[in-house]
Amino acid sequence: MNKGWRLVYEGFDPTEEPLREALCTLGNGRFASRGAAEASSADEVHYPGTYIAGGYDRLTSDVAGRDVVNEDLVNFPNWLPLSFRPEGGAWFGEGEAELSDYRQELDLRGGVLLRAFTVRDAEGRETRVSSRRIVHMGDPRLAGIAQEIVPLNWSGKIEIRSGLDGGVTNRGVARYRELRGDHLETIDAGETEDGPIFLHVRTVQSRLEVCLAARTRVRLGNEPAEAGEVERRNGAIRRTFEVRVRPGCPVRVEKVVGLCTSRDPAIGDLVEDALVAARRAPDFDGLLASHRAAWESLWDRYDVEVDVSPNVDLEPHAIQSILRLHTFHLLQTASPHTVGLDASVPARGLHGEAYRGHVFWDEMYLFPFYLYRDPELARSLLLYRYRRLGEARANAVEDGRAGAMYPWQTGSSGREETQIIHLNPRSGTWDPDRSHLQRHVGAAIAVNVWDYVRATDDRDFLARYGAEMLLEIARFWVSMTEADEDGRFEIVGVMGPDEFHEAYPGAAEGGLRNNAYTNVMAAWCIGKALEAMELLGERDRSAVAERIALAGGETDRWREVVRGMKIPVLPNGLIEQFEGYGRLEELDWDAYRAKYGDIGRLDRILRAEGDSPDRYKLSKQADLCMLFYVFDRDGLAELLGQMGYELTEAKLRETIEYYRRRTSHGSTLSHLVFAAILDRLDRGASWGHFVEALRSDVDDVQGGTTPEGIHAAVMAGTVRHVIERYAGLRLDADRLSLTPRPPTGIDRIRFSVQWGDTVAAIEVDRERVRIEVPVGAPSAVPVRVNGTDGVAAAVEPLVVAYASAG
Ligand code: BGC
Repeated sequence: MNKGWRLVYEGFDPTEEPLREALCTLGNGRFASRGAAEASSADEVHYPGTYIAGGYDRLTSDVAGRDVVNEDLVNFPNWLPLSFRPEGGAWFGEGEAELSDYRQELDLRGGVLLRAFTVRDAEGRETRVSSRRIVHMGDPRLAGIAQEIVPLNWSGKIEIRSGLDGGVTNRGVARYRELRGDHLETIDAGETEDGPIFLHVRTVQSRLEVCLAARTRVRLGNEPAEAGEVERRNGAIRRTFEVRVRPGCPVRVEKVVGLCTSRDPAIGDLVEDALVAARRAPDFDGLLASHRAAWESLWDRYDVEVDVSPNVDLEPHAIQSILRLHTFHLLQTASPHTVGLDASVPARGLHGEAYRGHVFWDEMYLFPFYLYRDPELARSLLLYRYRRLGEARANAVEDGRAGAMYPWQTGSSGREETQIIHLNPRSGTWDPDRSHLQRHVGAAIAVNVWDYVRATDDRDFLARYGAEMLLEIARFWVSMTEADEDGRFEIVGVMGPDEFHEAYPGAAEGGLRNNAYTNVMAAWCIGKALEAMELLGERDRSAVAERIALAGGETDRWREVVRGMKIPVLPNGLIEQFEGYGRLEELDWDAYRAKYGDIGRLDRILRAEGDSPDRYKLSKQADLCMLFYVFDRDGLAELLGQMGYELTEAKLRETIEYYRRRTSHGSTLSHLVFAAILDRLDRGASWGHFVEALRSDVDDVQGGTTPEGIHAAVMAGTVRHVIERYAGLRLDADRLSLTPRPPTGIDRIRFSVQWGDTVAAIEVDRERVRIEVPVGAPSAVPVRVNGTDGVAAAVEPLVVAYASAG
């Protein structure tokens, strides 16, 4: 990376290619395509993948005699194919070829993927190839490639082949290959007289139709080459072009693709519309200009610029580049084009097939990233959940509960998509997967609803959707509680965020008693649902109550639950992760570290030893400690106080330390959380976790997970960490607050925030905060810096000096 705007790879390395493909994905919030080479197709090295936001399909596979139903984010037709062959030679990408001077660069600012290399074929013919690729951020139906092919030491005929490949399946994740991935059927493929080819496909079960149309132009100097034959084979359609070339004379190829789906607005005839999109598009350079302009305005809002001290233990531009890389990929997964789409952010982006493109509680980490800069997009993400409230209600009923039980993993319809058993390829047995017992996902949705309302004061949203979600989630929690003999309310049979504990040692049934994180979140949700009702006017309040048939007096018990929720406590007075955790055995961490090195996935290590993580005091990720992440200290102390637990500063520190020593960080989310919660307590340790979180994807620290998709929540979390912890941003409907605490490594931070309808530019250094509101902004912004109030208006930036909190 250099100058903070580029991701550069020198040389071709087949072992690194899957990672590069994921990290060089291009997208626009509506669809995205992995950064696979144009001439590649799925094999051991390459995996071209194109994913559409909300584009799911469900299939039933026969695995070892069992029917396994599985919903995938579908790998749609590959629009990249572009290849060439010198006369009598093999198509590049299919035959033997030697690559040299290989360079790949992702230009984050402009959203352009560049690749250049020299290829030498079996006959010694050398050709220089360079390409630029975009997935258009301005017109979300368009994508394009411009390629220049220069024969270096040969002359003669060259053929160019440009195609659309519908012969693709979902097979990007090796461990899912037992499952069917044949989600596409071709409806039609064809060509038009004026050149463009098209491919019209449909998903097998969800009947989502997608049509891609490609317009390819080939030029030698100013001379256009005539379009040649069209060939259809194995679900692909491609057209060839032929020209005569001389050494040093470039052939210029431009491929512009239109992608339309049957769920798009303003669609008439899908094929015609895709063709029109491709035909009407300007040439590549024209497209590039409007694409860059669209990115520029996104960066105006989303860029987080940091001045990094020269003495940090990372390469000078790394922090800046990684923050931008993270922002870049998040905007490619959800952008202003996502508004109105029925989609949320899959845990692994639109960048690969891990977790089958499902949506998790990861939304809680992601949401503020969008909320701070584009509340409308944040609202659209919440509506994805609102539309699935009915399914969450049915889910609760099926479980014998009331209200809404949101599923752990979700995709198209909102039903539970988590697998409940997995075939263990080693033993041939079917092992249970109980991760769906993580009921805390509902609380994550409630947090997002509440944050949105708190930051925007969008009462209309609250009345129409938000309050209903909060109430139904609260109702679910109340229905989960059981009073024990002391009258305390318990929640049993759940899992916390720590996925290493699915059950008590040796128990046949899954689930734990009183996971403290879940219990506290449940109480919080109930409290907020009641508060939301207070915020509504009389008419809206009764309308919501009527909609969900809220019985008179029903909420009386809710208040009791908030006060009487059980918090398990260890003999040492600290909160217990779940009831019974204290009785588990201590693990010999040093011995395991010495034996295995990386012990992130202790669950796998222990199972391979015939043991079980259930027996030990260990966690995959922050569990109880999530409470310190979600709430500030005072808020949490108050909440716990209502339940009769006193959280002192000393206890808080001890609790974090106690669990940190017993956490393996087997989820990348864990570093993020510990970075945040230690920021005030132990800056050195916090910084270490922050750097780990920053490295998660760019260095594929888990060794093989990033090639299957980015870790979107970690990406968002790192950007938020800078904004929330180092600049100290908090967004409320009545003001924007900053409590800056830049760390040793970062001297200055610049970013923007949308407050009301105004986008304010904020700069924080070690002594001052500067807030600038653009001329013509709809409103002045009330600001609080370290407790001092001011107003930022359009005339002159507001500059506030502050004394560092240290
Ligand atoms: C984590 C979960 C997370 C999921 C998807 C898992 O490894 O343990 O907390 O929701 O990945 O990112």
